Amino acid sequence: MNAERPALADARLERYVALVLERNAVQNLTAARTPDAVFEHVRDSLSVVPYVREPFVDIGSGGGFPGIPIAIATSYRGVLVESVVKKARFLEEVVRELALPLEVRVGRAEDAGRAPELRERFASATARAVSSLPAVLELTIPFLSVGGLAVLQRGRLEARERTAAHDASIVLGATIEDDVALGGELDGRRIVLVRKVAPTGQRFPRRAGIPAKRPLCFEGGGDD
Ligand code: SAM
Repeated sequence: MNAERPALADARLERYVALVLERNAVQNLTAARTPDAVFEHVRDSLSVVPYVREPFVDIGSGGGFPGIPIAIATSYRGVLVESVVKKARFLEEVVRELALPLEVRVGRAEDAGRAPELRERFASATARAVSSLPAVLELTIPFLSVGGLAVLQRGRLEARERTAAHDASIVLGATIEDDVALGGELDGRRIVLVRKVAPTGQRFPRRAGIPAKRPLCFEGGGDD
């Protein structure tokens, strides 16, 4: 690790960084290949902690960002949803080794969001680097109880995507409550906060792949 970098506040965060690097050497877990790069993901993940409440769900956790750092920092109970089996197995190993109060759900958010034990059960939902904002809204909002908050990390947000997200929120029974621009070392990053105000219609989320391919209210904003 970089000698100039202060140690992370919790030894488990340091251990988590080591586990990500170790696994990344044999499996494509994340594009972050150096301790500094993984540390940046941890720092970015921790930026959402003030907005997250228990229980939370993290959609498309990948190597565990932001769900694992949130659980280490808060001890909140949560569920990590990840569709790639190998990544989900890694998450299970981390959860076990660090004794975190997390459950890993292997599968698509479109399916998990329809499961009675997960639908409308969470106070907060996170999703980092998963898809366009309207698509992410469709993948997260169904998990929230009415009154719950989606805490969504974004980079740059173009006006067209923002407008689509506003409209998609209404369709899903939610409303954009705030858009927090981060400063300092996270300059250029933002956290979009979306409050669920009514139950989500039963037709959402649409079937697997559709939210990203044809994002709600976002013509031409799909993945293909
Ligand atoms: N959130 C992590 C991060 O910030 O490093 C991972 C980001 S990675 C670019 C996106 C992850 O979301 C991948 O691991 C992918 O398998 C997962 N993913 C994408 N769509 C998904 C879906 N519909 N349901 C569950 N997981 C999904």
